[in-house]
Amino acid sequence: MNEAGAKSPNVIAAIGLGGNIGNPRRTMARALGLLDARDDIHIRRVSRLYRTPPWGNTDQEWFHNACALVETSLDPHELLKVCLDIERQLDRVRTERWGPRTIDLDVLLHGDFLSDHADLTVPHPRMTERAFVMVPLSDIAPQAVINLQSVADWASEVDSEGIESLSRSGDWWLEEEAR
Ligand code: ATP
Ligand code: CA
Ligand code: CA
Repeated sequence: MNEAGAKSPNVIAAIGLGGNIGNPRRTMARALGLLDARDDIHIRRVSRLYRTPPWGNTDQEWFHNACALVETSLDPHELLKVCLDIERQLDRVRTERWGPRTIDLDVLLHGDFLSDHADLTVPHPRMTERAFVMVPLSDIAPQAVINLQSVADWASEVDSEGIESLSRSGDWWLEEEAR
């Protein structure tokens, strides 16, 4: 709130979602529903849902991944805290790095905010080399610029072998929620 009592202006943030334990489609739909249910976060666009090969630790189940654009009055730290709280609510347990998980919610972008702190690095430090991020993000924000290059160009450069879309539109999470 500023002195006039008005809320801080909303910004567009991009969130990356993924998971490979249980029913990732349902868990990711629930995560989006929990984000959208808040007064301070509105889901604006959701990418198609993708099935993707595991990254980093390749000896695990394939993942489901998607990206969402949200409009929010939260600052980047508050948005990350909400994401981590929702992960816990959806039974995320942290074991080994890049290991299996029910849900992962990463803050990819937050307006033109830049941070290189370990607790919150934005843009997300590994996003431009990950097809499972750049391919879904290019569904909803192809013209966004990261490190001087558009998301569409990053998406066309990354190795997207094995990635397949599981939905024709970004409505999969609403359909899943309605089940
Ligand atoms: P990666 O970050 O490579 O995608 P990961 O998602 O598996 O790996 P986590 O265990 O989910 O990593 O997160 C570890 C920590 O990363 C979080 O507790 C958080 O503080 C920190 N972090 C830093 N920047 C970000 C960001 N942009 N989004 C989410 N977490 C971040
Ligand atoms: Ca991640
Ligand atoms: Ca994470």
